[in-house]
Amino acid sequence: MPKLNENFLKLEKNYLFINIAKKINAFKQANPEADIIRMGIGDVTLPIAPVVVEAMKKACDEMGVKETFKGYEDSGAGYDFLKNAVSGYYKSLGADISPEEIRINDGAKSDCGNIVDIFGDDNIILVTDPAYPVYVDSNLMSGRKVIYADSNEENGFAGMPDYDVHADIIYLCSPNNPTGSVYTREQLSEWIDYAKKNNAVIIYDSAYEAFITDPDIPRSIFCIEGAKEVAIEMCSLSKTAGFTGMRCGYTVIPDALRVTASDGTEVSVSQLWGRRQGSKFNGVSYPVQRGAEAVFTEEGLKQIHENIAYYQENARIISETMSELDVKFTGGINSPYIWFKCPCGMGSWEFFDTMLEKIAVVGTPGAGFGKNGEGWFRLTAFGDRQRTIEAMEHFRKLVTELEK
Ligand code: PLP
Repeated sequence: MPKLNENFLKLEKNYLFINIAKKINAFKQANPEADIIRMGIGDVTLPIAPVVVEAMKKACDEMGVKETFKGYEDSGAGYDFLKNAVSGYYKSLGADISPEEIRINDGAKSDCGNIVDIFGDDNIILVTDPAYPVYVDSNLMSGRKVIYADSNEENGFAGMPDYDVHADIIYLCSPNNPTGSVYTREQLSEWIDYAKKNNAVIIYDSAYEAFITDPDIPRSIFCIEGAKEVAIEMCSLSKTAGFTGMRCGYTVIPDALRVTASDGTEVSVSQLWGRRQGSKFNGVSYPVQRGAEAVFTEEGLKQIHENIAYYQENARIISETMSELDVKFTGGINSPYIWFKCPCGMGSWEFFDTMLEKIAVVGTPGAGFGKNGEGWFRLTAFGDRQRTIEAMEHFRKLVTELEK
């Protein structure tokens, strides 16, 4: 009889989205005429840019012709044309990353979850709390010990290292999901310093980097000195270019990142990850990689920024409403997420129920992202403009009413 990986049995059920769906269904049954506005969705809603569609159509045509047909991609690490384009993009962000240090992935989630395959199960994992649940779950699945750095109101939801606590692998996400907070250059330097003192590796998730507008906020950890010796970065075109249904992103493992094995040999993390991927991953499809390449052209960048600007305007509308009502929040600027403190000291779920029942607006209770999320709430800017405006009008009335 096969033995199970019983770590899976210990995982908490993903109650967050199951509970939300249950509550929405119950509300719909009781109020069939209600016009629910969904402000909790983390998926994009605008279509992919025309230049990307054209590039993919052309690539599909090539696949139908014997001379230009493509089968397996040799390395599975991505075609040179795309790695070169990503390397050029990094240059524009102020980071010097060679095409050889880049591997094309099928979105950041897979690599964020799988990267720990190359690290031992006895590592101590440090995650900022609240966090994107993949970091915690993918380590609990292997039975690893997970410890937390508090992100809370006091530190603006930008958790910082405690030098008295040791960790081997650190997950950082900036701009953060769910809190929308961003790390400054100084804060990232401190994390790099902590990683060096602990011989630790930072796994840096920059999935929302394209939403950063402040030129002083780094859009890659590799904009910071010393990062190449300690960090791996995962990024994605999902939110940058509407690729959630296309599946393409990139992982950067610098050549300088080395870890010492138990026999004293120095091991290249990039080579080890390449070995893992060589066995378990056959690459991203050619048409999708051609579409991704088009994102990084002058016209592509212009077109994707029109969509990003649309979401940024939604974020501005939401943030402005919070400021007007004196509701404490992080995000909204440099991020598509707005993370706010529930009015009148309400708990996250209590506020979820109130918002649903009184104004038929749905968001995501912060408590679902970790203990420091209790009493906080996440709204996203990925929705329709008119619906966002409507939701904020209702929200304004609700909070004014509650605070009476
Ligand atoms: N990282 C963060 C912080 C996210 O919020 C998401 C998706 O919502 C991802 C990674 C995964 O994105 P994808 O797998 O679509 O690239």
